[in-house]
Amino acid sequence: MRPTIYTRDEHSVRLDQVDEHALSAVLTLQDAGHTAYLVGGSVRDLLLKKKPKDFDISTSARPEEIKKLFQRQCLLIGRRFRLAHLRFGNKILEVSTFRAGDITSSSIILHDNRWGSEEEDVMRRDFTMNALFYEPRKQLILDYVGGVKDIEKRLLRTIGEAHLRFRQDPVRMIRLLKFQARFGFRCDEEAIHALDTCKHEIVKSAEARILEELLKMLESGRAEAFFSLLSEYGFINLLLPCFQHFLSHNDTRELAASYLRAADEMMQQPNIFIDRATLLSALIFPILEQEILTLCEDRQMILPLRDILQLTDSLLQGVCASSFVHFPKKLLGSVYLSITNQFRLTPIKGEPKYHARFSSADDFKLALDFLRLRCLVNPKLGHFLEHWEKPPPKE
Ligand code: ATP
Ligand code: MG
Repeated sequence: MRPTIYTRDEHSVRLDQVDEHALSAVLTLQDAGHTAYLVGGSVRDLLLKKKPKDFDISTSARPEEIKKLFQRQCLLIGRRFRLAHLRFGNKILEVSTFRAGDITSSSIILHDNRWGSEEEDVMRRDFTMNALFYEPRKQLILDYVGGVKDIEKRLLRTIGEAHLRFRQDPVRMIRLLKFQARFGFRCDEEAIHALDTCKHEIVKSAEARILEELLKMLESGRAEAFFSLLSEYGFINLLLPCFQHFLSHNDTRELAASYLRAADEMMQQPNIFIDRATLLSALIFPILEQEILTLCEDRQMILPLRDILQLTDSLLQGVCASSFVHFPKKLLGSVYLSITNQFRLTPIKGEPKYHARFSSADDFKLALDFLRLRCLVNPKLGHFLEHWEKPPPKE
């Protein structure tokens, strides 16, 4: 099959938007007689006028040939998926050899390391918008799957038959919702239907890959849209059942959304670093807060801190026991501290005390970051934030 070729005047990617090291790596591979292109997320992002996170390269060169060309700059990684990492200072570029995959099989992919042609390399990819090659020397886009037109139409479409592609690798379903949330694209009808039919297959995927997609989406600045899609398509129930009721019930959905919206607002600020624990707390804290308020009302009393600590502990244990993904212990420990310390920063009754006990400056910083997030949800908490941002009075 021949690709549709878009020349320099027919597409919007400009050479000066391409990372200089990625460009030089492609040219080095080509000069040695190999075919080499930029591929995947970077080409898509450039067409969408977004700054790419990374620039992946696809080439006809085999890993050993890449190693020979780039020598000490190149590290071959992975036993099952052999890839080359090229190091430029602290930047790493991923170079993968064209691979083939059986796109008509419905069995789960266990091995994905059969070398193939450039066309086969395109066909094994997930969505049409992720399968475009950019050839920098002539500044061409090579499109085997109609990806350029789909991007123009803002349409998310699987390569090949959606049901099969989701059964082969169920993580693609989560990736579909991630791209939908990130770009606001419409999903192709067949893919929507396949999501419904194949969603139960999600538990056959490697939980570490799902965990990484969930955490990355909490950091994406589009968490609200993503978690709402996960819930709408029935994935929360399968992956994080503890959150299902809260995220989907009419009474609480908006509260949950307001916390994720606040996380998005924080993440959309330039050059910001927010700990993953703070972002995960945005998912968990409102559930706890509701429970505490209900208990206070039922018992007609302010809940002592001791009970709050216990409640938080059992909520987190419930999350761990029921989730498909395994949250790392260290992350959950930080979530526990970040959440429980809120009741020191903003006591349910009375004024905050400067001598509130924080085990370390890091714990205080973590808790304060989450208080900033809470202030976006509830600006009335602003005076607490001012209080804690001021240096403590001298003894
Ligand atoms: P991001 O901007 O989130 O990094 P991306 O599209 O670059 O998005 P990566 O996970 O970096 O995503 O993957 C790079 C490319 O590899 C994708 O663009 C796609 O072509 C291909 N790919 C990734 N995951 C899959 C998958 N599960 N099935 C098929 N192809 C995939
Ligand atoms: Mg990428």
